[in-house]
Amino acid sequence: MTPTQYGADALIVCDSLVRIYQTDDVEVQALQGLDLLVDEGELVAVVGASGSGKSTLLAVLSGLDAPTAGRARVADWDLLAMTSAQRLRYRRTAVGFIWQQTSRNLLPFLSAAENVELPMAVVGVGRGERRRRAQELLDSVGLADRSGRRPAELSGGEQQRVAIATALANRPQVLFADEPTGELDRATGDEVFAALREVNAVLGTTVVIVTHDAGVSSQVRRTVAIRDGRTSSEVLRGEGGGPGREYALIDRAGRMQVPAAHRRALGLHERVRLELEEDHLGVWADDHDEEGVR
Ligand code: ADP
Ligand code: MG
Repeated sequence: MTPTQYGADALIVCDSLVRIYQTDDVEVQALQGLDLLVDEGELVAVVGASGSGKSTLLAVLSGLDAPTAGRARVADWDLLAMTSAQRLRYRRTAVGFIWQQTSRNLLPFLSAAENVELPMAVVGVGRGERRRRAQELLDSVGLADRSGRRPAELSGGEQQRVAIATALANRPQVLFADEPTGELDRATGDEVFAALREVNAVLGTTVVIVTHDAGVSSQVRRTVAIRDGRTSSEVLRGEGGGPGREYALIDRAGRMQVPAAHRRALGLHERVRLELEEDHLGVWADDHDEEGVR
C-alpha cells in the first residue's frame, strides 16, 4: 500500500463504493460512490432517511454483501478480495454486529450468558474461559445479574445490551449496529447508546451505528449524513458536549453538496459565483449580467 492511498491510516475505508441492485427490469443504485473513513477507536453514527443506503453499507462492511464497484477495507481485510474461508473468519472474529430486530441478535432458547458464550464456542474457546468472559461482558453492559435469563425474560433494551455483549465475545476490532434502537422507546434507546459509548471508551472497540434518527448526533461525537447513497455532511461535537458544528464533505473530485436550506435561502441553483479569500471561500448566487455574457 502506498502512503498516499486514500484512507491509508484509517481502520475502515470505503472508497467510491457503488452497489447496484438489479431486479428484473429495474435498477436501484443503493450506493452511488460513497466515501467514508473511520479511524481506530472512533464512535461514529451514520444517519440518513429510509432508503438512503445505510443497511446496504453495513451489509458490505460486515462481509454479507459485495459492492458492484469501489473499494472497502476494514483493518487488513480487503472486503472485495476475500475467499469464503476468510470471509467466515472475518465475520466470526474481526467484526461484531447488532441488528435492529432484537430477535435476530439472540437465540431465544439460550440464556443471556449462553448467548454470549456461543460465538466463543464456535471458534473453540474453552468452557472456563467462555464462562469467565461472558460474565465479564455482561457486567460491562450492566447486566451481571441477568445472565441466567432468556431473551423473552428481558426487556427490549436489556436484549440489545446482551446483543452488544454477544457481538463483543470474540474481541472484534469493530462493532457495527444497524438501527440498534429502532424498536425501542427514547429512554431505553438512550441506555443502549450509553452501553455502546461505554464499550467504545472502556474496551476501545471502534463502533459504527447506522440510524434514520438524526437525534443520534447528540449521543456521539461524529455523525455522518448519507443521502442518495453517498456521504453528504458531518456534525462534530466538541469534548464538552454542546450543539456541534456542521461540516459539508468535499470529495476527491472537489464535489460538495450544499444543503437545500442554504440553497433556498440564497437562491443558489445551477451556477454560483465563487471567490477565493485568504482563509475561506465565498459563494454567491449567480449575478452575472445576462446581456454582458450572451
Ligand atoms: P436504508 O437502510 O438506508 O433504509 P437500504 O440500504 O436498505 O436503505 O436500501 C437502499 C436502496 O436499495 C433502497 O432503494 C432499497 O429499496 C434498495 N434495496 C435494498 N436492498 C435491496 C435488494 N436486495 N434488492 C433490490 N433493492 C434493494
Ligand atoms: Mg436499513
